[in-house]
Amino acid sequence: MISSDLNKLDFKRLPHVRGSYKKHVIMAPYTWFRVGGAADAVFRPQDHEDLSQFLLQKSKKVPVTIIGAASNILIRDGGIPGVVIKLGKSFASTNFKSNSVRIGAALPNSIAARLALKEGYSGLEFLSGIPGTIGGGLRMNAGAYGREVKDILIEAEVIDSTGNIKVLSLEEMAMSYRQCGVPKDYIFLSGLFKTGRDVPSNIQKRLDEIRARRLESQPITERTGGSTFKNPEGYKAWELIEAAGCRGVSIGGAMVSEQHCNFLVNTGNASATDLENLGNLVQQKVRDATGIELEWEIKLLGLIKDSNLNSKNVSYE
Ligand SMILES: Cc1cc2nc3c(=O)[nH]c(=O)nc-3n(C[C@H](O)[C@H](O)[C@H](O)COP(=O)(O)OP(=O)(O)OC[C@H]3O[C@@H](n4cnc5c(N)ncnc54)[C@H](O)[C@@H]3O)c2cc1C
Repeated sequence: MISSDLNKLDFKRLPHVRGSYKKHVIMAPYTWFRVGGAADAVFRPQDHEDLSQFLLQKSKKVPVTIIGAASNILIRDGGIPGVVIKLGKSFASTNFKSNSVRIGAALPNSIAARLALKEGYSGLEFLSGIPGTIGGGLRMNAGAYGREVKDILIEAEVIDSTGNIKVLSLEEMAMSYRQCGVPKDYIFLSGLFKTGRDVPSNIQKRLDEIRARRLESQPITERTGGSTFKNPEGYKAWELIEAAGCRGVSIGGAMVSEQHCNFLVNTGNASATDLENLGNLVQQKVRDATGIELEWEIKLLGLIKDSNLNSKNVSYE
């Protein structure tokens, strides 16, 4: 898709909300890659009811995009048409029970793991090294070191595109490697997760081990989007990328990480187009060298910028 005139969202026709709308928001600062054009609007709902009313009342023509910590997203330079939803504090609660915990979708994984440590609950340690929120983790079935969200999930609370809140069982979530089968327009509100009990010093030890492994193997202090491609059945994506000679390859300000070659990094002045072109180049080189097609794990969102094209007006009522 090519970028269209991004000023066509009619704010006067958006539903009245108790939360806030911000107009024409540059998305780059919201994302781990620090790239991306503007969203027509960012909506921060006050609470579940506010989000529900917004979804119920908004025109069907207004596209909606939900983001978490944007640690697995590449927002294109032409920006995101319509309304981007970013959940805030009231969607980030925790409720520990005897052997489970309900966690709000907006809570960062690292904080969930830290709160579990404080309360003496085990089982969430693997989340500590995955940047991102519980909501993003539910959508992506995030995982590390042999554990995935689906291994600890009991059920998830979602809201559909017309504002109805539902509870989905683990089976209904249809989770598999880095994806779930829930309709794309559903927004996760919370997850209920199994937990065990352990002494905090044991939990802390596992958290420390995870942190040390991360620092050693991943460019976690850089502007990146995590694993760029899914591991094809029977292969490791990074090995295929290495074998195709792509480690350290760059386009503009985008580079294949020297530390972990399934990570792309913004070395400072990359555009989203640089990063997407680099990903496409890696895909092509791996295809040429091995015949294997790498599938993007990173979600590519929004419109390609082409300032030379005066594309047709798109209006959202
Ligand atoms: C340095 C680094 C290391 C990483 N390591 C790992 C790893 O080890 N394992 C791993 O699995 N991932 C890893 N990732 C990728 C990323 O952290 C995970 O995919 C994470 O779960 C994404 O969460 P997020 O909140 O950032 O989601 P976003 O990136 O914001 O969004 C990802 C997808 O989830 C959707 N989404 C977000 N919130 C919601 C919601 N509330 N309801 C419905 N849909 C939603 C978005 O629309 C989008 O489709 C890494 C990323 C980085 C930058």
